[in-house]
Amino acid sequence: MFNIVIFGAPGSGKGTQSEYLINHYGLFHISTGDVLRDHIKRGTELGKIASGYINDGKLIPDDLMISILEKVLDENPEKEKQGVIFDGFPRTTEQAKALKEMLARRGSKVDIVIGLDVPEEELVERLLKRGKESGRSDDNLETIKKRLAVYHNQTSPLRDHYVDEGIYAAINGIGSIEGIFEDIKSAIDNRHNK
Ligand code: AMP
Repeated sequence: MFNIVIFGAPGSGKGTQSEYLINHYGLFHISTGDVLRDHIKRGTELGKIASGYINDGKLIPDDLMISILEKVLDENPEKEKQGVIFDGFPRTTEQAKALKEMLARRGSKVDIVIGLDVPEEELVERLLKRGKESGRSDDNLETIKKRLAVYHNQTSPLRDHYVDEGIYAAINGIGSIEGIFEDIKSAIDNRHNK
């Protein structure tokens, strides 16, 4: 079992690189953003609550987000055993603490945090482009700016937390998708063989 957190600002390529990771390592992918968007599409109660936060560029409250994630793990015990890519979670120190506890209860842990570094101007450009192509409600300039501020204030401090734990691998997120994936693979294989 090998658990990966893919970490970085909105637009840093977490979703794209997760696809490559799934194909290469056969891991179970959990994108909390996708889980929430699925609820919104299905019109569930949770979806109604989530859409307010998402459209405003804010984070879903920790308690709620943590219980959503735990439910996904509880519902997929077999897939969890293959190892998991956590994409978009954790986003706060509270969530990182909860993830650690959740995995410890299951006899596992986060093995590596892949941090994708992309400069801010590039992030905005990529998100605006994605907004045009996918029609995602939060990929407009006003919400993008809010999401980036949330990332800087609430999420980026997690980087130091994982550096201190000795499991953070910084990856340059600029370049070809394949080239970036090669760097990610080297970081993972290095750690796996330790
Ligand atoms: P993403 O698809 O990861 O960019 O997430 C889209 C939106 O979903 C975020 O801007 C948040 O509103 C919400 N979201 C996704 N993951 C989380 C999380 N771990 N904690 C709180 N909110 C989240």
